[in-house]
Amino acid sequence: MLHNASNFYINGEWVAPSITQDTEVINPSTGEVCAVISLGSEEDTNSAVGAAKATFDSWSQTDKATRISLVERILVEYKRRADDMALAISTEMGAPIDKAKDAQVPAGTWHIENSLRVARAFEFSQMLGDHAPNDRIVYEAAGVCALITPWNWPMNQVTLKVIPALLAGCTMVLKPSEIAPLSSVVFSEIMHAAGVPAGVYNMVHGDGDGVGTQLSRHPDIDVVSFTGSSRAGIAISINAAPTLKRVHLELGGKGANIVFADAPEKSVKRGIIDCFGNSGQSCNAPSRMLVERSIYDQAIEDARNTAAMMKVGNATQTGRILGPVVSAQQYEKIQRLIKAGIDEGARLVAGGLGHPENVDPGGYYVKPTVFADVNNDMTIAREEIFGPVICLIPFDTEEEAIAIANDTVYGLTNYVQSTDDEKRVRVARQLRSGMVQMNNQSLGACSPFGGMKQSGNGREGGIWGLQDFLEVKAVSGWAG
Ligand code: NAD
Repeated sequence: MLHNASNFYINGEWVAPSITQDTEVINPSTGEVCAVISLGSEEDTNSAVGAAKATFDSWSQTDKATRISLVERILVEYKRRADDMALAISTEMGAPIDKAKDAQVPAGTWHIENSLRVARAFEFSQMLGDHAPNDRIVYEAAGVCALITPWNWPMNQVTLKVIPALLAGCTMVLKPSEIAPLSSVVFSEIMHAAGVPAGVYNMVHGDGDGVGTQLSRHPDIDVVSFTGSSRAGIAISINAAPTLKRVHLELGGKGANIVFADAPEKSVKRGIIDCFGNSGQSCNAPSRMLVERSIYDQAIEDARNTAAMMKVGNATQTGRILGPVVSAQQYEKIQRLIKAGIDEGARLVAGGLGHPENVDPGGYYVKPTVFADVNNDMTIAREEIFGPVICLIPFDTEEEAIAIANDTVYGLTNYVQSTDDEKRVRVARQLRSGMVQMNNQSLGACSPFGGMKQSGNGREGGIWGLQDFLEVKAVSGWAG
């Protein structure tokens, strides 16, 4: 299946790395090597950026219909390769195979379809207003883009960047996570089969210190769109500053889920399941559950029972399974944070340190872990854990709940559970986050995804995701 795993996709062809810098891709379910890729060198980066630059003038001048019909072909190919994609994602980052098929791959389909919907409705040339009939506002491609993505939802992130960039008329170099690069190999095959013109889309494997940094600094890159850690987001911003690139950042989160006493039934159970989905490796995970004191003891019981029911296992197993976390490094980080929770006096009510029973000892499995009596100053309430670990924090008043929720450097997604309509809306308006999800309702198609504060500065999805890849040009004296 992955015959080109170590090659790069540059200027419409699979090309061998200019020098070999082999890196093993590890299957987190077993700890064994599942593929070998080569990390790109500066020469490879330059070659990919050069191809994207050379084709920018022609692709950016194409009309909307041309771009839409290309993305429609990509959608067909993406659906056709769904099984290969699910297998690649499941193998490289440990999503249980059913989850890879039902959630990871469809996230990409969803973003491709929604981007098409947005582009079809978008006017790339608009009148300024009746007061200035000869003035036009023209939306044009922002330039050559570097798209740098993480491992946790590989196709979710790749499609959220590549597809709007294409529809905007940009050309691009994708650098997927070196930890989960195989899905982007399949994705590049999809792009090729769909007939993306040579040079418009390029893909180079690499790590942050190499290709990631080279792209961030490159004088011919106009836009960097990045999803990943705050640490890397800061490095990219610094490296991009001397050439004044536009930098869009989608970073981490430490979402609060405020569960009021009048919450809908099963809110605690759903909150635990949401937090532990993808083994807790989602930037929008509701990882701090704030519970109104009058229902706090019951919430602890519900949380304990929900965690205890979860089955941890190899990603090849079908059914409801919690897969491993992505890497040995991530496993160690989570263990360190669980230990910090215990040492700082939080009450462990489920899970804890070490491997769960009956799992492959080579894999990176974490016990579904629930801490109660957490104080928002504790390390586990402040750091993004990125594992199946949740913190229960009691509160007494609405004001206190809002203050705790906002007391974090992050501001990505917060959650509110209450059957009181006025209270819910009142609370939502005071939460400092790019998104608020209430009463278990997902955000609608084409809504913007992104954060405030240290969760980043861009918005992906919907019209906002398209505009991130567009420049605005004001033209007077327009005729016709
Ligand atoms: P990471 O920052 O280590 O890596 C992400 C990507 O950035 C990888 O492709 C990596 O090679 C590259 N990179 C790393 N250092 C770089 C540098 N100095 N310059 C350029 N590129 C660099 O993050 P990760 O561990 O892959 O992903 C987990 C993080 O991503 C979490 O913090 C999570 O919250 C965040 N995340 C955010 C969102 C969102 O939309 N807000 C979505 C998913 C994940």
